Amino acid sequence: MSLKDFPRYPLLFGPSPVHPLKRLSTHLGGPSIWAKREDCNSGLAYGGNKTRKMEYIVPDALASGADTLVSIGGYQSNHTRQVAAVAAKLGLKARLVQEKWVDWPDAVNDKVGNILLSRIMGADVRLDPAGFDIGIRDSWENAMEEVRSAGGKPYGIPAGASVHPLGGLGFANWAQEVADQEAELGVFFDTIVVCTVTGSTHAGMIAGFAGQERQRRIIGIDASATLEKTRDQVDRIARNTAKLIGLSRELRDDEITVLEGWAGDRYGIPVQSTMDAIRTSAELEGMIIDPVYEGKSMAGLIDLVQSGDIGPTSTVLYAHLGGQPALNAYSGIF
Ligand code: PLP
Repeated sequence: MSLKDFPRYPLLFGPSPVHPLKRLSTHLGGPSIWAKREDCNSGLAYGGNKTRKMEYIVPDALASGADTLVSIGGYQSNHTRQVAAVAAKLGLKARLVQEKWVDWPDAVNDKVGNILLSRIMGADVRLDPAGFDIGIRDSWENAMEEVRSAGGKPYGIPAGASVHPLGGLGFANWAQEVADQEAELGVFFDTIVVCTVTGSTHAGMIAGFAGQERQRRIIGIDASATLEKTRDQVDRIARNTAKLIGLSRELRDDEITVLEGWAGDRYGIPVQSTMDAIRTSAELEGMIIDPVYEGKSMAGLIDLVQSGDIGPTSTVLYAHLGGQPALNAYSGIF
């Protein structure tokens, strides 16, 4: 089997835009830095990385005859908002478990941003007091049971669409898209920087790029603050995805790199480097990033360039995975 053999339901506008970040590159004084923009990849409720993953999950959901997509995340989950949008688009219901992943003292944390959008799109949004965990939760399984006992047919999508057998395919396809765009643009990105939490974005990229002739560094920046769980999950999903798409070799350990240092102590809580990265990216490029995910991966990119870990002759691709709606729940920090 190869990636082309998996059915794909179109949810994106097409290939996501790739463009240079010229003022950021000049400011950092080293490598040429570009961005690939999953934050504007789709017309479905602002899009994002999960919309891309769901292109490969929707055919399975439709084939199952489900009438309700059941998923889980934090109050400000970008993922559940994208599930709500896909459900609306398909004429299905969405049942969302929204856990208190972040103890964040903003009075409107469970009212604005992502959760507001999910409510507007008609999802059945239920709050749950449980804390952050990227694994499979009883509350998600219970939600599916509730849908069943009410006579519905649920289709489960785990947190971040990651621990799903097809969860890595969307970003394996992203790797192919990057190669096509490189050929058009006449560039080669020797280094990719990507935020990683539930793991299948980064893992899909690793599997997808591993099949290409020219090797590159794919640097995952942890934003979970539960590093070992995220690293294990990336490893598992990358190997599983590589098998699914018919990679003819085992992935090497050195192809799976998740770096720590920018997540702070807890998921969802911005630290000084997150805030600095958000302001730098906004002031130099008008590119908006969020305090939970992309602010942390951009902080990582900036430090890796400044320390010389990413050398001055590199050409770097920053994967912007979306997430700006959550900014509304963090107005106090600005
Ligand atoms: N960036 C944004 C904006 C996200 O919503 C997520 C979701 O968790 C991530 C990065 C991390 O992606 P993943 O969970 O696939 O590791």
